[in-house]
Amino acid sequence: MTARRLRTPWLAVLIAGAFLAAGCQATRPAGAGAPVLPSLSPASPAAKKTGAPTAPTDEAADNAVDRVIAISIDGLNPRAIQQLGRSRTPTFHRLMREGAYTLNARTVREQTSTMPNHTAMLTGRRVDAKHGGHGYTGNFDNGGTVHQAAGHYVASVFDVVHDNGHSTAMFASKAKFRLYKRTWNTHGARDRTGRNDGRSKIDRVTIHRNNTRLVAKLTAELRRSPREFTFVHLSLPDRVGHAHSFMGGDYLDAVQRTDQLLGRIVKTVADRPALRRNTLVLLTADHGGRGAAHYNPSNPQDYRIPFMAWGPGVSAGRNLYDLSPGIESPGGSRTSYHGKQPIRNADLANVATDALDLPRVPGSEFDSQRRIDLFG
Ligand SMILES: [Zn+2]
Repeated sequence: MTARRLRTPWLAVLIAGAFLAAGCQATRPAGAGAPVLPSLSPASPAAKKTGAPTAPTDEAADNAVDRVIAISIDGLNPRAIQQLGRSRTPTFHRLMREGAYTLNARTVREQTSTMPNHTAMLTGRRVDAKHGGHGYTGNFDNGGTVHQAAGHYVASVFDVVHDNGHSTAMFASKAKFRLYKRTWNTHGARDRTGRNDGRSKIDRVTIHRNNTRLVAKLTAELRRSPREFTFVHLSLPDRVGHAHSFMGGDYLDAVQRTDQLLGRIVKTVADRPALRRNTLVLLTADHGGRGAAHYNPSNPQDYRIPFMAWGPGVSAGRNLYDLSPGIESPGGSRTSYHGKQPIRNADLANVATDALDLPRVPGSEFDSQRRIDLFG
């Protein structure tokens, strides 16, 4: 951890010297006429690892994002946001007004339950292992690993961020998320990218059932030592939905309370220039729900979910389907994996790696073509 965060000022001096020698202005913005210095490509792992100043030299690297907070809200039916409106869900509406979003994203096609969808979000894979999926079909922690379910090592967004020399964290509110600690820490692969950063791909794992206390721990860490990639799982709507009925009054109250918790996270970022200038917040859900549960993958109430992006340079108030011609709004349909794809929660892994100018998750399918555009 300590070694990974060490900076090497001498290299920065060398790079600054190279700029001067080349007669280039390090502050020149990206775009036409920007100098191309191949040895200083921002995507270069060397530049990333040293924390050296990076000159934007190509389209793929011209966003300001150096940090991603990816939030999954368990059991969030996007209809709840519409029904509660701006007065009761001001933070969700803020993300939509100041960021890019859709309330018509999709879960993975096969299942609308927690673990298969979160595993998809973290790996960029569908469920069905016969078609390159992660293979984790159970909605519980089976005591094993995702690798065992797939029959081979399954890389995650944590692997990519960590192996490229950056720091990662997971804050989750259900005990079954220990599956991911076991999968990517205890049984993480050897790091063969650049310097060896070890096998534990998630630098800090915090699991706490109480959503309010979990968010307090998260905001404390964001203030103290923010990571380059933080995954956050909030479970209040799902818990109350199972206890009382999804989309019922108690459930809607839980979504309102979740908006307040989300507000604490967003405010922590927005109030700190050092965070606000480079932090992308992504938000989606594992599934929706209506009535008693959410386990029917052919029910629109279960498979329709939100996907939001908020951060520096993200097109404000734009619909993600309008911003990204390579993907297609599914209307009301469930959609298959053939033809043009809707935005799915499983796009989260590679939307994050793309924003961070890192390689796509090995073996991933969703947004591996980099079709989702947040920046317009
Ligand atoms: Zn549930």
